[in-house]
Amino acid sequence: MKKSTSLPGLVLVLFSAAAAAAAAPEAPYKPDASAPRSSVPQEHRWDLSPLFKNDASWETAFADAQATLAAIAVHHKGKLSSALALKACLDDYFALRQAVDRVASYANLMSVVDADAAEYQQMHQRALTLGSDFRSGTSFIRQELLRLDDETAKSLLIAPPLTGYRSYIWDLRRRRGHLLGEEAEKVMSLAGDNLWSETDLNEIPSDVELIFKAVTNDIQLPKIKDEAGKEVQLTLANYNKYRASKDMRVRRETVDAFFGALKKYDDILAGTLAAETKRDVFFARARGYPRSVDAYLDRQNIPASVAENLVASVHANLKPLHRYVELRKKLLGLKELRLADLYPPLVPSAKTEVPYPDGLKDMRGALAPLGADYVAALFGPEMLGRRMADVYPNSGKESGAFSHCIWGFPPVVLLNYMDELDDVSTAAHELGHAMHSRLNMKAQPYPDFGYSSLTAEIASTLNEMLLSKYLLKRYRADDKTRLYLLGDMVDKIRTTIYRQALFTEFELKLHAFAEAGTPITADLLDKTYSDLVRLYYGEGFTLGPDDGVEWSYIPHFYWKHYVFSYACALASSIAISEKIAAGDEQARARYLAMLVEPREAAPVEILQKAGVDLMKPDAVNAAAKLMDETITEMEKLAGGLQ
Ligand SMILES: [Zn+2]
Repeated sequence: MKKSTSLPGLVLVLFSAAAAAAAAPEAPYKPDASAPRSSVPQEHRWDLSPLFKNDASWETAFADAQATLAAIAVHHKGKLSSALALKACLDDYFALRQAVDRVASYANLMSVVDADAAEYQQMHQRALTLGSDFRSGTSFIRQELLRLDDETAKSLLIAPPLTGYRSYIWDLRRRRGHLLGEEAEKVMSLAGDNLWSETDLNEIPSDVELIFKAVTNDIQLPKIKDEAGKEVQLTLANYNKYRASKDMRVRRETVDAFFGALKKYDDILAGTLAAETKRDVFFARARGYPRSVDAYLDRQNIPASVAENLVASVHANLKPLHRYVELRKKLLGLKELRLADLYPPLVPSAKTEVPYPDGLKDMRGALAPLGADYVAALFGPEMLGRRMADVYPNSGKESGAFSHCIWGFPPVVLLNYMDELDDVSTAAHELGHAMHSRLNMKAQPYPDFGYSSLTAEIASTLNEMLLSKYLLKRYRADDKTRLYLLGDMVDKIRTTIYRQALFTEFELKLHAFAEAGTPITADLLDKTYSDLVRLYYGEGFTLGPDDGVEWSYIPHFYWKHYVFSYACALASSIAISEKIAAGDEQARARYLAMLVEPREAAPVEILQKAGVDLMKPDAVNAAAKLMDETITEMEKLAGGLQ
């Protein structure tokens, strides 16, 4: 789900859809992951020329940004107490931020589609350095704004020249009660404080996280026997593949071998996790927060009770997960369900081939409940009507999918479309992010453009939900495909809501241990994790002797109270999409209004306006109900297919 939503931008360069239309009568391109990039038809490779016409213009912009950065402190440092001076400074700051983001985006986007293009890898590195110079070179603005006394700040907030920066200034000063004295702030910054830094929390790993990564990379994993009985070296990269094997022997051997290896390092891994946790607690306490969860959620303007309510609501809704365990046993033909058995697809992949043009047609139908304007904009000249998508894989292209947007420029998405049903869903997800950016950009001026990770994942998963509903109708006469789609839905709810809620609860307990001064040992972590797995999956699930060690390789536990947002977002998008799909006109309007709220708006409040209260169990209830109904339908279908 790593999605980048950078800020900044300008001029919209509109492209004609002529190129795409001209290719329409030909047979669709056949995806090939090892194909050289040049063999992918141009209309399916993104066009980044609105960012920069060519590399030479990028170089000019890079040099300009460096020069402007060198001048900004000279012009403005120490002079920000009058409205006019502050306005002049913020004008310069935002123009520069946009320029830096544009430079960084171009270099990054050029580099991810072709790992072999050394010049773009280098440009990307240079852009990263520029970004970090920009943050340190302009940090005086934030510091000076934060240090203004309340009276001065109040008068600045109502001063006419600063009208356009009101929300920005207000949001920046929202947590000023947790600001320390200048000397202390200096020490916090030297200690690597991440509660106040301007960058995305998880973009820059802590030293402890780097040690964790190094240790997990160095763990000697054993060999296993694959489906054909051939010995293969287990690696972190192929673990997920063998864990999802349809062959029970292979997947169980994989998990046992992996967990057995982790067990040998569990004291080191408990040490790194304890160190990271204590670090979170240190920063939170240094800034006067009662608990680390309060501090890290406050960073996103979300009360900690949202994470706690998620856990409580999931506890009250464990029955569908227990039914899921029984359904899995039935569909996989197993007497006992072990951890490894959670990973092969519930239903073998439907052999439905969906070439990209057909996938787009499905999407057009699926998103119709969002209204004609939404669909017209998505397929219009600023989005799919231009080369916004890098559709197919090629050799040297980054795997996975993401969307990226800079204010003032058309959004782009990276896909690795392989003509499978799943790929349509991924495309709907990323285009959901892209539409969120586009709509938000049209409504908000640059300083107020953007959104939280919580609302971001609603805009994307809501499209997946609508697509799923649409496909279930479209394949109503095809029980096999329907069963696959339903299986995909319950797996999504299991992994995104139940599993992430379990992670959230583990993370809360872990931090509570650190806050209470309880020594964090491998045994304590094993027991805590095992107890949660038993509680969540219920009595029908069989826990293996080493399964409690699963906590030890999960990177999310180094992400500082982030995982709750995955679970809350999917639960919310299920609750909202149920209403929209049922034709609730008001729900649709409220949802679309949420997408255009300014960056500074509190996520919980704007979600309330969209009809979901994250302080209540409603969203989790809706998701659990959907899971329950889906399981009932699957049981019927599976009975009929036997
Ligand atoms: Zn996403």
